[in-house]
Amino acid sequence: MTDATTAPLTHEWLGRYESALLGVFGRPQLVLEHGDGAWVWDVDGRRYLDLVGGLAVNALGHNHPALVSAVSKQAGQLVHVSNFFTTPSQVELAERILGLSGAPEGSAVFFCNSGTEAIEAAVKLARRTGRTGIVAAEGAFHGRTTGALALTHKPAYREPFEPLLPGVVHLPWGDVEALERSVGPDTSAVVLEPIQGEGGVVPAAPEYLQAARRVATEAGALLVLDEIQTGVGRTGSWFACQQAGVVPDAMTLAKGLGGGLPIGALVTFGPEVTGLLGAGQHGSTFGGNPLACAAGLAVLDTIESEGLLEHVRAVGEHLETRVTALDDPRVTGVRGRGLLRAVTLAQEWAPAVAAHGRDAGLILNPVAPDAIRLAPPLVVTAEQLDLFVDALPGLLDRAGEEGR
Ligand SMILES: *Cc1c(COP(=O)(O)O)cnc(C)c1O
Repeated sequence: MTDATTAPLTHEWLGRYESALLGVFGRPQLVLEHGDGAWVWDVDGRRYLDLVGGLAVNALGHNHPALVSAVSKQAGQLVHVSNFFTTPSQVELAERILGLSGAPEGSAVFFCNSGTEAIEAAVKLARRTGRTGIVAAEGAFHGRTTGALALTHKPAYREPFEPLLPGVVHLPWGDVEALERSVGPDTSAVVLEPIQGEGGVVPAAPEYLQAARRVATEAGALLVLDEIQTGVGRTGSWFACQQAGVVPDAMTLAKGLGGGLPIGALVTFGPEVTGLLGAGQHGSTFGGNPLACAAGLAVLDTIESEGLLEHVRAVGEHLETRVTALDDPRVTGVRGRGLLRAVTLAQEWAPAVAAHGRDAGLILNPVAPDAIRLAPPLVVTAEQLDLFVDALPGLLDRAGEEGR
């Protein structure tokens, strides 16, 4: 296998990286310098089609004029003010999120800076019910801070840091009976992703989310939907839960919301849930700063003005149709919705396919040994997705040769 990291400037930067940065991410794959739309360039001038979009973050792609101009304008006015104060962009973004989510009167938004912080806020909200149990799912990913980590399922992430927050149980994904058995009078919240992202792009059946809604209501527990990866247009609707017709009690957002600027949000639905957290009970220094909120407004405005929800549905279906039409026995299917997809493989070749893809100028994510995740910018075109589909058989050839 060739190694893209041997190019001269890349090699030099990676050496400096390794001497200066904590090794939690392993060796970076590329050293990137600039981007445009779905394309990025590395420091050695090589171009890549970014089909991962900064892990479902760069909703508008790279260097989108609406995002650049909104952030530049806001930076020239105010970047940060602290939560002793508010700003028009903060209030407007909260109003927009509430409007798009169909949240009833009395709903509210808390802003933070990341997904894991949005989950932490949801955990504190849940604690205010007076109960301590939390029901999550096997395969779930909810973040890496110690509270959110307790909800994340993967033992390799969790176990080195135990003991974590007590009271969390992980139930088999998609199992309605397990929910019925396990959600009870001690359950503060049921926390689920509409599509498990890090878990391999595994969608919940609409009936599963509907059952979770019913079971949570019956037990007097909160239904918290983690839309950090699936929200903000990623699956072809503003929020994935809308496709199942499920209204949660709380929803977490981050990733795509700022289009690359760090922002997270907890949305509380209705006055009763909103009233659980009062003055002084939670906070954040940077959360809701005008720069990140201006970015969020630009993202939401652009999704609307460029008709991106419809576009995401169309190109997502195009991708699925084209991959299926390859009729390649080494490809077993396409999971997910909109532009959150996994192409599943008959063999555990995803890491090799991603590595060869990189050499061929395609950024892909091997989310599981047998699954390649695609979460490209929402502005990606059908023609750009075709570049991946057309390359896939050759990438599988190369992965197969290695396995021999
Ligand atoms: C990425 C992700 C998180 C964590 O977000 P960070 O911004 O990395 O802290 C939580 N939940 C889901 C579903 C995610 O995809």
